[in-house]
Amino acid sequence: MDQVSKKSNASLQSELHAFILEFYQDHELNKFRYDETKRYFDVPVIGYADGDDPIFESYKNVVCKNHLTPREAYSKIRPDENPKKLTVISILLPQTKEVRDSNRRHRQDSPIPSYDWVDVKVRGREMQAKLNNAIVGILASNGINSFATDSTELIHAKFKTDPLSVDIQWSERHIAYAAGLGTFGLCGNIITEKGKAMRCASLIAAVEFPVTPRPYQHYREYCLFYPNGECKACIGRCPVSAISESGKNIELCKERIWAGKPIVTEKYDLMEHGCGLCQLSVPCEAGIPARKK
Ligand code: SF4
Ligand code: SF4
Repeated sequence: MDQVSKKSNASLQSELHAFILEFYQDHELNKFRYDETKRYFDVPVIGYADGDDPIFESYKNVVCKNHLTPREAYSKIRPDENPKKLTVISILLPQTKEVRDSNRRHRQDSPIPSYDWVDVKVRGREMQAKLNNAIVGILASNGINSFATDSTELIHAKFKTDPLSVDIQWSERHIAYAAGLGTFGLCGNIITEKGKAMRCASLIAAVEFPVTPRPYQHYREYCLFYPNGECKACIGRCPVSAISESGKNIELCKERIWAGKPIVTEKYDLMEHGCGLCQLSVPCEAGIPARKK
């Protein structure tokens, strides 16, 4: 059954947007465990896409044949509903300079990243879950059903059971691209106005919100490597040569990251993993890199 909103959709969207921007700043989980003057995440970047935008259908060719459109995802989670309109809310949480510096200073020959680089994932996941609940609650109080994509095993099941699989059903980076938040770099990460070291998440809501325009013509537009082969800084940053002029070898990257997981658990007592060296000390680390005139 379609939901009836109590406010104008644009006004509810503005309210929600302001709530998300505010949520993180002084949240307990956004403070470093050992120094509460430091933050894990900067102000988020948020975009909105029409759930029936044809771009999502194209992801079956671009990302993976099993990639879900927002409508397919919605039907999996709420099979008894067929809302007239859907909006995908993409939320990117940029990691602060303190977090980036911690990994930058970490030994480059280490098989694992710095403590803070790993902990930002743990805390980010916990904080995101709280934010998701709050967003779902705000929408529900306005008669709108929604869910967070990372709260459901159905959407990320394959990735969770087989970490080396590239058979993913929901790519948060591609969702962010569709929501006007950034374009892809040679390294495979999404480059945004806040750089590329960030946590990506999304929700799907049965509502029509004004969409965020995509201010780019090409999916590689913000990366200096395209079209003239400049930069390539991320290639030199990868310790396992997973990045080349052809792009990122996802299997090589994931092998390094997952090989480090038991070491992370033993050394940091954190159930996470990571690497991220290609996101640091490169021109797109903290913003859209400037091109030579
Ligand atoms: S480091 Fe350079 S080549 Fe690599 S993604 Fe960033 S801009 Fe592109
Ligand atoms: S995350 Fe690490 S292993 Fe993966 S491409 Fe970047 S530098 Fe290489």
